[in-house]
Amino acid sequence: MKFSYVSHLHCPTCSKTYSAREKNQLCVCGSPLLVDYDLDEIKKVLKPSDLLGREASLWRYHELLPVENKENIVSLGEGMTPFIPMPHIGKDMSIRHLFMKDEGVIPTGTFKARGAAVGVSKAKELGIKELAMPTNGNAGAAWSLYAARAGIKTSIVMPLDAPRITRNECAVSGANLYLVNGLISDAGKIVGQAVKDYGLFDASTLKEPYRIEGKKTMGLEIAEQMGWKMPDVILYPTGGGVGIIGIYKALNELIALGWVKGSLPRLVAVQAEGCAPIVKAWKEKKPASEFWPDSSTIAFGINVPKALGDFLVLEAVYKTDGCAVAVDDQSILEEQQKIAALEGAFICPEGAATFVAARRLRENGWIKEEETVVALNTGAGIKYPDTVHVEVPVLQPEDTIQKAMGV
Ligand SMILES: *Cc1c(COP(=O)(O)O)cnc(C)c1O
Ligand SMILES: [Zn+2]
Repeated sequence: MKFSYVSHLHCPTCSKTYSAREKNQLCVCGSPLLVDYDLDEIKKVLKPSDLLGREASLWRYHELLPVENKENIVSLGEGMTPFIPMPHIGKDMSIRHLFMKDEGVIPTGTFKARGAAVGVSKAKELGIKELAMPTNGNAGAAWSLYAARAGIKTSIVMPLDAPRITRNECAVSGANLYLVNGLISDAGKIVGQAVKDYGLFDASTLKEPYRIEGKKTMGLEIAEQMGWKMPDVILYPTGGGVGIIGIYKALNELIALGWVKGSLPRLVAVQAEGCAPIVKAWKEKKPASEFWPDSSTIAFGINVPKALGDFLVLEAVYKTDGCAVAVDDQSILEEQQKIAALEGAFICPEGAATFVAARRLRENGWIKEEETVVALNTGAGIKYPDTVHVEVPVLQPEDTIQKAMGV
């Protein structure tokens, strides 16, 4: 048995194929590349029960991942995150079977660790010594740390107002860090120029093919954690869209393997009202999005005005009879507090956005009360301490709580 059944890369736009044993970025036509596996072979040698007893990390699915030599794996134990029922918040929005896939408990505190683990491992396998990327914070943090573990040099460019903690994560890992007084799209331009000038490997979202493979493991895990069944709806906070493209890819691979049956869950791309290019395109029934000017939202990870893989996100939404929903920042903050108070989970604003979207879609009847609904929490609330504003009474040492309460 082989460790990985990766076969090649293909372009979803022009169908050209590429080797998975050479460094590749975009297709010559400018499209992102996707990774293919020899699924017929996997089907012959592997069945779901073979996974029992494997390590509780995303590497349990190594046959469906691109790293061919086990020695190249760079891991901090990422994956197999909790899949937990949310009965109280579910009751509050009258969804009987509401679950949260909680990516808050993963190295670096966001699901970006999945993309980084697989992307950096494959970069190591391909002999890459130095990479560069623009980021809204979380991806840069994860890639810097995993690259440090792999001994790969990293250059990161992030917006000046990206969450402070992500800046520190990059810096502490020893990456070359630059701040730009602008958006991720501006950071992208600067990285693009550096890649040209210095011949660095460009690890920007979807400009290398393997980050999707890491993120697709969320889809594999949801299916396994549900006993190889699929939910009715999965809601995903969509920025660059890698996660939703990955989940869609994973579920299609599982269908091809015969490990799950039936129709795919309806995939919901959730965005913020201040940055909703995918939602706009979906409403207009378009195959791709347009640049969203002056984008802004507190949910920093989904502040992406134009995603390179927008057409793949929209395809995943259209093909699964899903939809795209924009939610406002105020509702995100209220939902974040409600979830902490009702379920004890302090989730990130992007994750809270998926719960707001579930609430709206239940209100307008798009989600039915009996349906099984999975909301993706992509990161830990503690990575965004500044999004929570509270008034706390301050006591003097001689005070009592009764006195502070005015009793
Ligand atoms: C990056 C990020 C997202 C968006 O992820 P994509 O897969 O690029 O759409 C959502 N939430 C958090 C916390 C993120 O860091
Ligand atoms: Zn192409």
